[in-house]
Amino acid sequence: MDGQTTTEAVQVVPVTDLSGVPDAYLLAPAQVTDRLGVDPAVGLSTRQAAERAAVHGPNRLAEPARRSEWLKFLDQFRNWLIGILLIAAVVAGAIGDIKDAAVITVVLQINAVLGYLQERRAERSLEALRRMLVPTARVRRDGVEQVVEAETLVPGDVVLLEAGDRVPADGRLTVAESVEVAEAALTGESQPVAKSVAAVETTGGAPVAVADRTSALFMNTAVTRGRAEMIVTATGMHTELGSIAEALRTGTEPPSPLQIQLDSLGRRLALLSGVAVVAYALTALVRGEGLSDLALRAVALAVAAIPEGLPAVLALTLALGVYRMAHRGAIVKRLASVESLGSATVVCSDKTGTLTLNEMTARALWTAGRLYEVTGEGYGTKGTVRGGEGRSGQLLDAVLPFAVCNDAHLTDDGFVGDPTEAALVVLAAKAGMDADLLRTEQPRVGELPFDAATKYMATFHPEPDGRIRVHVKGAVDVLLDLCTDVLAEDGVRPLDDPHRSEILDVTSQLGGAGLRVLGAATAVVDKAPDPAALPGLTLVSIAGIADPPRPQARDAMALCRTAGVAVKMITGDHAATAAAIARELGIDGDVVTGAELDRMTEEQLAARIDDIGVFARVAPEHKVAIVRALSSRGHIVAMTGDGVNDAAALRAAHIGVAMGITGTDVAKEAADMVLTDDDFSTIVLAVREGRAIYDNIVKFVRFQLATNIGAILTLLGASLAGLPAPLTAAQLLWINIVMDGPPAMALAVDPARDDVMRHPPRDPGERILDARRLLAITRAGAVMALGTVLVLALARSYVDTDTALTMAFTTFVLFQLFNSLNARADDGPLLGRYQFRNRTLWLCLAGVLAVQVVAVHLPWARAVFGTVPLNLAQWALCLGTASTVLLAELAVRIAQSTRRRSGEPA
Ligand code: ATP
Repeated sequence: MDGQTTTEAVQVVPVTDLSGVPDAYLLAPAQVTDRLGVDPAVGLSTRQAAERAAVHGPNRLAEPARRSEWLKFLDQFRNWLIGILLIAAVVAGAIGDIKDAAVITVVLQINAVLGYLQERRAERSLEALRRMLVPTARVRRDGVEQVVEAETLVPGDVVLLEAGDRVPADGRLTVAESVEVAEAALTGESQPVAKSVAAVETTGGAPVAVADRTSALFMNTAVTRGRAEMIVTATGMHTELGSIAEALRTGTEPPSPLQIQLDSLGRRLALLSGVAVVAYALTALVRGEGLSDLALRAVALAVAAIPEGLPAVLALTLALGVYRMAHRGAIVKRLASVESLGSATVVCSDKTGTLTLNEMTARALWTAGRLYEVTGEGYGTKGTVRGGEGRSGQLLDAVLPFAVCNDAHLTDDGFVGDPTEAALVVLAAKAGMDADLLRTEQPRVGELPFDAATKYMATFHPEPDGRIRVHVKGAVDVLLDLCTDVLAEDGVRPLDDPHRSEILDVTSQLGGAGLRVLGAATAVVDKAPDPAALPGLTLVSIAGIADPPRPQARDAMALCRTAGVAVKMITGDHAATAAAIARELGIDGDVVTGAELDRMTEEQLAARIDDIGVFARVAPEHKVAIVRALSSRGHIVAMTGDGVNDAAALRAAHIGVAMGITGTDVAKEAADMVLTDDDFSTIVLAVREGRAIYDNIVKFVRFQLATNIGAILTLLGASLAGLPAPLTAAQLLWINIVMDGPPAMALAVDPARDDVMRHPPRDPGERILDARRLLAITRAGAVMALGTVLVLALARSYVDTDTALTMAFTTFVLFQLFNSLNARADDGPLLGRYQFRNRTLWLCLAGVLAVQVVAVHLPWARAVFGTVPLNLAQWALCLGTASTVLLAELAVRIAQSTRRRSGEPA
């Protein structure tokens, strides 16, 4: 049936009507489906969807207009430092110093191009990341359930939703089982609202507020409870959200703590350079330098003192790092999280699917007082309930609730649905029951979907005599509270203490073997029960399901141990199961249950938390308490989550980690990082990357700042010593931007050190420039200044001033080469094999050397930089002097380690 070609009497909305069915919430579901020309049991055909998509366009909100590339390029000049330089160029031109004016202009262009290219590259990698997180939707098309990109939805599509899903378009409910939706994105109301299929009543056609349209779902709201199906009534800009202009403004990412730190550092350096300029001007005036020359050099000094390249290199480093991580399975949504990752002290991980494979196989079945072993592997139905021969009737009764109160289906190549439920369908098959067939024979008239907080699921089915059959499956300890009877060897018996303790024994025995334990229960009642109060049930069976630990998880756990990162397992499973898996993985510490947590005060939990390794039978809200307790102990917490109720904990943690495969949309939206493979070891890998990125940032900040301080001290020193200025404006700019840029970039992409996971996490309060690094930078700057000024003074007594100045300039440039090695080995080995592991850096250094040779020897370059050729001995002197910055650092480190060894403070 096609929306355009239907000839029935119903009023079919023409496919060309872009507003869809705006009043669908007032109509009965059948009216809506008729008007949209769709059978909800089949959905649209692929062809229909394509035809409608051609008319309605993609289901997405309009994006804010993009800035043109030209504007982005011009942005590079919108910086007060660049403004000063431009003024300097004009001043230089005005006083007839065409050479300097030209160099400043050219260098400014180069800086702008570099800045623009870096920004563009960073932007591209972030865009690629965004594309990795495309929203999808589960639809029924051509009669089959399938997952499609949310953008391809069209009016008439049948969308299937469950707790945790983001609603991908506006729609009219056709099925609603205990549905609640958080509509804060649209209405600002933070409490979830209950939704139902019933058409909204309105008196005299009075308009109904969005918040009161209880039969409608709206784009970008979140299903927080239950299971639903809706017919899409409007897409893209025609949705309620699309009509609210404000919602379309996408916020820009706030700067990360590191960026703020570097910004304030930049400001302080600007201040320092201001002071330096004044001091320099005074000494130069005393020496009687010309005013125009002084003005130009003062401006150049100011600019040389400011690390223009830093913000761009920082942005690029973070963006490239994040891009690298994404390719290894960890999509970081906010750049700032990279820093937190590097300093993470605790990882709280879900068990199922993250630490384990989420490949469930039932291994044991207990019913009527007997425990059976179940054979067979994976989701194939080959295998038997061993020892069950001759008891098929009993076994069928035992697995019936498991099979019927279940939404998973086996397919030729596996299953669709929840792995736990699929394992139970397989178990039913091994006991001789076809779950699919049974479910069609026993249709549902209602259900309570599984909820991690209640830990059970229930379905209601009509009996031939008009009564209602209730099937329940869930955590055994929870079921025990709901059961009044038990299926014992001699039939249904009251659940007395001996039976209760037998069941608890079986549960701990199965749990102790690392099996996930679920019970099945059933009852027949006169009328559909109140969901809040299930009737007294009869416990019929218990299943033990194996879910092996991920093979890499053990190694990742060991890595965490050497890296000083504690791992805590958080699971909804039984304590015995959790403890057994924790033991296998090597997680140390006490096992505490959710019930015990409930009895602890915040302070008590905080006092014990470092000794706890496993949190079992917890509900999602316990996770928030755990994050709080850990934070109060000064921990930086990474917390995983997948369910709709995990959102609060994901937000509360320093690094919220959502599962990409099993995670709900709500969890993914709340998280800072999404794992595409749901694998615990990927979190550890991301922590390692986070540390490496931070290390690299330290390296290039150290490198560039040393150049700045070196330049200031050199100019001041020369001035005080009564020597001519060893570095001209053009030279300073050249060094700062062109010569320093490539080595800084090479440091930014340095491979991680081998021992990056062999030391404890960085103190999150640590400033990037702590006292030790500031001292090292100042030391390097001082050595550079001293070396350069000495070379100038010494050379002036043997050769002409031009040659001496060229030697000083060259020495200063070569100092940077050696100092990049100091900066690279922030606190690692200064010399040794490690230093040869970054080929890019060595290529850059060779490049810088070559460029300096050109600057000194090629006639046109000499004209620009005012240099003269040097002979081999002069080059050797420059090189030898420059190497002292490395030797000085080496001497300091030797002295420090000697002092450390003899027990004195370093
Ligand atoms: P995670 O480790 O990811 O937090 P979990 O598997 O430990 O997840 P849940 O999935 O919340 O925790 O399961 C908790 C308990 O609820 C299980 O031990 C099981 O007894 C029960 N359970 C799990 N899945 C279902 C289901 N589909 N239907 C009914 N009961 C279930």
